[in-house]
Amino acid sequence: MFGADHANVQPHAGAIANMGAYQAVIEPGDTVLGMSLDHGGHLTHGSPVNFSGLQYRFVSYGVTASDERIDLDQLRDLALAERPKLIVAGATAYPRLIQPEPLREIADESGALLMFDAAHIAGLIAGGVHPNPTQFADIVTFTTHKTLRGPRGGAIICRSDYAKAVDKAMFPGIQGGPLDHAVAAKAVAFAEAATPEFAEYAARIVDNSRALAAALAGHGFRLVSGGTDNHLMLVDLRTFDPDLTGKEAQATLDAAGISLNKNTVPDDPRSPFVTSGVRIGTPAVTTQGMDADDMATIADLISRALRNRSDDAAVAAVRADAAALCAAKPPYPGLDTED
Ligand SMILES: *Cc1c(COP(=O)(O)O)cnc(C)c1O
Repeated sequence: MFGADHANVQPHAGAIANMGAYQAVIEPGDTVLGMSLDHGGHLTHGSPVNFSGLQYRFVSYGVTASDERIDLDQLRDLALAERPKLIVAGATAYPRLIQPEPLREIADESGALLMFDAAHIAGLIAGGVHPNPTQFADIVTFTTHKTLRGPRGGAIICRSDYAKAVDKAMFPGIQGGPLDHAVAAKAVAFAEAATPEFAEYAARIVDNSRALAAALAGHGFRLVSGGTDNHLMLVDLRTFDPDLTGKEAQATLDAAGISLNKNTVPDDPRSPFVTSGVRIGTPAVTTQGMDADDMATIADLISRALRNRSDDAAVAAVRADAAALCAAKPPYPGLDTED
């Protein structure tokens, strides 16, 4: 599916795949560059409370202040100054395309290996709507349960020269026996992701994401980086209502039947437990068959619920409208959901 020499499908999760990748190619104490958490990186990209930050010396790069896209100049400067063993690309809350070529160039210039953590976008890569990093990165990790739409799990793919080290890192290095039921489910997900229908699905995810982002902007929300190229968007709530926090928005929208999560925006003045933003994804509603018109409806519902968040009846009315939308586009049309 990704054109890799070698795959290890045993990692029980994305975090464990990253642990295996690090263990395969670097030593404890080595310097690694990773994307900073408050700019969209993952805990396993060097958070001080995570094994990654505890075992390795992570240095963070981020997005520019001007366009909120990965700051390649900063990344190059850091790579040349720090001479890391490994550069980790990939993110958990970044709405833009990540081009693998310039990262490869920076890795080569600085003598580093390149790892691409495709946890979020593996399905978009499989569907051909985002560039495949496999030929540019030394090692690629991903989850099988995000845009790939399979079972909870992880996987590592790599060039043949790292195959032995990766397999050894996963077993006996980190895990015991494989979860065979999960590996079987991954095989089903890979088979589905290799079909033309999945490629159409991946393209529709991004179309819906752009439509929802544009509709939210129309309601006065600020989109981090001005929009999205992938399955998610980061919404800065401060232009909509400076008093509204991500925490309160998440709780209100939960009550309104709309699931999303609070998320920091770049250089967020609020703590990660409160935040000034939310992160919204379109893969699930796309699976339900929703389209651009439905995205406009969802943006209306979000705006209505948040404007009227102190009015329980108004939030309940949004919840009824969200339920009606879902009833019209059921996730499992073949299933009888009557009690
Ligand atoms: C989700 C995610 C992971 C971890 O995946 P889990 O299966 O939750 O352990 C790792 N890296 C990135 C970039 C992610 O988004």
